[in-house]
Amino acid sequence: MDTLLKTPNKLEFLHPLHGYSEKLGTLAPSKLQFGFGSKKQPLVKWGKCGGGGGGLRASSSALLELVPEIKKENLDFELPLYDSSKGAVVDLAVVGGGPAGLAVAQQVSEAGLSVCAIDPNPRLIWPNNYGVWVDEFEAMDLLDCLDTTWSGAVVYIDDNKKKDLDRPYGRVNRKQLKSKMMQKCISNGVKFHQAKVIKVIHEDAKSLLICNDGVTVQATVVLDATGFSRCLVQYDKPYNPGYQVAYGILAEVDEHPFDVDKMLFMDWRDSHLDGDMVLKERNSRIPTFLYAMPFSSNRIFLEETSLVARPGLRMDDIQERMVARLKHLGIRVKSIEEDEHCVIPMGGPLPVLPQRVVGIGGTAGMVHPSTGYMVARTLAAAPIVANAIVQSLGSDRGLLGADISSRVWKDLWPIQRRRQREFFCFGMDILLKLDLPGTRRFFDAFFDLEPRYWHGFLSSRLFLPELFFFGLSLFSYASNTSRLEIMAKGTLPLANMINNLLKDTE
Ligand SMILES: Cc1cc2nc3c(=O)[nH]c(=O)nc-3n(C[C@H](O)[C@H](O)[C@H](O)COP(=O)(O)OP(=O)(O)OC[C@H]3O[C@@H](n4cnc5c(N)ncnc54)[C@H](O)[C@@H]3O)c2cc1C
Repeated sequence: MDTLLKTPNKLEFLHPLHGYSEKLGTLAPSKLQFGFGSKKQPLVKWGKCGGGGGGLRASSSALLELVPEIKKENLDFELPLYDSSKGAVVDLAVVGGGPAGLAVAQQVSEAGLSVCAIDPNPRLIWPNNYGVWVDEFEAMDLLDCLDTTWSGAVVYIDDNKKKDLDRPYGRVNRKQLKSKMMQKCISNGVKFHQAKVIKVIHEDAKSLLICNDGVTVQATVVLDATGFSRCLVQYDKPYNPGYQVAYGILAEVDEHPFDVDKMLFMDWRDSHLDGDMVLKERNSRIPTFLYAMPFSSNRIFLEETSLVARPGLRMDDIQERMVARLKHLGIRVKSIEEDEHCVIPMGGPLPVLPQRVVGIGGTAGMVHPSTGYMVARTLAAAPIVANAIVQSLGSDRGLLGADISSRVWKDLWPIQRRRQREFFCFGMDILLKLDLPGTRRFFDAFFDLEPRYWHGFLSSRLFLPELFFFGLSLFSYASNTSRLEIMAKGTLPLANMINNLLKDTE
């Protein structure tokens, strides 16, 4: 942590989760990266849920007692290590070994370029439980990296309305995906260095990465893929994202009421809070929903999720809501295999474009601002970044570091992608203003849209002209109340979006 704070883009901002004064930096390594076994996390004060009326309130302490100790599972690989004594300059240094960084390392090394991948735990299996739409992984020929698929998904708008989504969903087999990428990296000659980068120094033709073990890695191009740590990439505007906050458990239960052939994409029902008016009122203002992946009749991943809020919801508030919901649904948790604390910054400004360090994934503003999803989009963008690097380095135009980076950023964030993101930020701004009834009306209309619209919106496949038709279509499907609400709450965000679109030119 100490080292992270010394990086140029230090995590100086106070994390605005209600009531927490800790920096996100404090939160980041434990919660964003090590989702397993929160029992040791001092941040969450079990059972202390705030707000009075304590006697009736659902306590989360009994549930959290079941969370196992932190277990870190490593891949069983012999890693070829970077030899710093040779003083060689590699073509590419990838900082961060999450899905984003490894995908680019793999593809650049495939083209015969030298790559050094730096991560404090390069063999650690990624902790996050990733969900994707099956068609997204199919398009990248990654179906072998899904361990479970569901033929469709379900959305409960409220107690009386359920929608069946005819779109298969899958859980990423993170061990398989990481193994596959690591194997390819190793056979392509990628060298690994186990450390944290604390500083970067740029010269005209190369950059020096200073690591916390005293080693310096020299590279022609530096890729920051450090997720939400945003280690090296620079931002020049105030960082003001919304936050998706969620608490998830992979649990063995006596039984659950969900169909094992469908995943539960969103459950906005709130009847579980009928006995607790304080919690019900809080949920009505800033709602949370249940997301669930039923693996069998007694094994299920359950995640209580705040889609987006600014400041983000407190983790203990979410856990309290989850306990009340599970009780109401008759789900008795017998044991917990692992848990996940999810805090995803959404929207906010893009990094400075272009800049010397290139970026991908969480660090480069690639999270979908209206949904919090990113994995599929990032894996699809990795070849674009890799190609730009390979072509710039392979060309005989004698490009220097800054020119190469400029080209990579241009390919990663071309104008149509920036405009698309602006529209998604507009979507986030509306969602931020909706209470539970408004959110329900919104998703009631959203999932009635033609599949090409809602699929395209969730998977970042719609671009600006189509996005306006998407908006019009959503408006036409919305109830009158919802239309009035969108007009009232969406006017300012719409004006902001138009202003930003006009300002951002080629
Ligand atoms: C709990 C959780 C669940 C999520 N679920 C989904 C989902 O279901 N679907 C989806 O599409 N998206 C999901 N996301 C959002 C997003 O896809 C993930 O955050 C994803 O892991 C981001 O990938 P990344 O490679 O950019 O960063 P990360 O996966 O965060 O990887 C960053 C890597 O950089 C390393 N690192 C950090 N600092 C340094 C440094 N100074 N030097 C060297 N290395 C460093 C870290 O150790 C880490 O290995 C989820 C996010 C979270 C937090």
